[in-house]
Amino acid sequence: MSYMSPTLENFLDEGLGNLKSKGLYSTIDVLDGANGPMITIDGQEKINLASNNYLGFATHPEMIKAANEATETYGVGAGAVRTINGTLAIHRELEERIAKFKGTEAAIAFQSGFNCNMGAISAVMNKDDAILSDSLNHASIIDGCRLSRAKIIRVNHSDMKDLEEKAKEAVESGLYKKVMYITDGVFSMDGDVAKMPEIMAIAEKYNLIVYVDDAHGSGVLGKGAGTVKEFGLSDKVDFQMGTLSKAIGVVGGYVAGSEKLISWLKSQARPFLFSTSLTPGASAAVIKAIDLMESDSSYVDNLWENANYFKEKLKGIGYDIGHSETPITPVILGDEKLAQEFAKNLIANGVYVKPIVFPTVPLGTGRVRNMPTAAHTKEMLDKAVAVYEKVGKEMKII
Ligand code: PMP
Repeated sequence: MSYMSPTLENFLDEGLGNLKSKGLYSTIDVLDGANGPMITIDGQEKINLASNNYLGFATHPEMIKAANEATETYGVGAGAVRTINGTLAIHRELEERIAKFKGTEAAIAFQSGFNCNMGAISAVMNKDDAILSDSLNHASIIDGCRLSRAKIIRVNHSDMKDLEEKAKEAVESGLYKKVMYITDGVFSMDGDVAKMPEIMAIAEKYNLIVYVDDAHGSGVLGKGAGTVKEFGLSDKVDFQMGTLSKAIGVVGGYVAGSEKLISWLKSQARPFLFSTSLTPGASAAVIKAIDLMESDSSYVDNLWENANYFKEKLKGIGYDIGHSETPITPVILGDEKLAQEFAKNLIANGVYVKPIVFPTVPLGTGRVRNMPTAAHTKEMLDKAVAVYEKVGKEMKII
């Protein structure tokens, strides 16, 4: 038996009870093996439409080989935080390659996308500043903004009129030393893309710092180099933040930007200063992923081909798939309970998806989110569509 103080036990009993009664307590599925296009859970194989492994890189043999070789050379761990002596030659190479790929002067790597946002936002913004933040921004952006102690001003999702009004008000108030606009490049629940040209026009007019979290755009848009590259804005956006955990298939986060900004982050971002650096194996695998994207366009092309194929098929059998502009494919059900029941039935029939409900998405827009990847075969996607058709008809959704 583990010890627990009565105060903690009361807190946990009440908290867990609350979560369970509201249907907000999620159980965690355990995969028997790798997170590829097919996964096995409790011995049962399923078509996997729930991962962020857009390019299939999580199990790429050349990346595994690169990780193994770097592990042999450098060891399993970096041994220290970056600023003590945990910066290995492979980290320097990784940052140089990210910068070149993103079209910026420099880059800084973090151990995850989440702590990258926590560290980078709070290294630059403080209590004398204001941050204009899109209302659908990711939790790590929200937490990074809170940590900075800057005034947070929510902007209606992708609403350029609202952004312009709030930017004007914040700047003209004279209350803030700096004003930043922060947005996801691709919004993970609907698959829509930030309106970059309009954002940049407003940013230039009001002298805003611009921070784009491209977790779901990297490896997907701009031939893999991301949303900012897609719009030809690499030399205009201050922060190109991204993760190495989704399309890149490994783990880690980064900011690509000017030499000056990266020097500042390397001396101020607390997860960089106080948390041990990325493993050598992960760093090498990411470098290999960049090699693969740069030398072979078929990964990104296959992703888009599969995504367009899958979307057309789902639409064809009568589903509402929203207005995604990227491979992210929501199937909108509306009712929360219906979304949960629908996902359960899809899984039981061999298609692994996750229901996404309030508070992750607005009330009444419950959905099942699909992530077709470059690694799926047409046969897998056809089978998934057949299951969607069967379950949808049984549940009278289509
Ligand atoms: N930003 C966005 C927009 C994300 O979707 C995520 C991942 N859910 C993150 C940041 C965090 O990235 P990571 O998983 O690498 O910590």
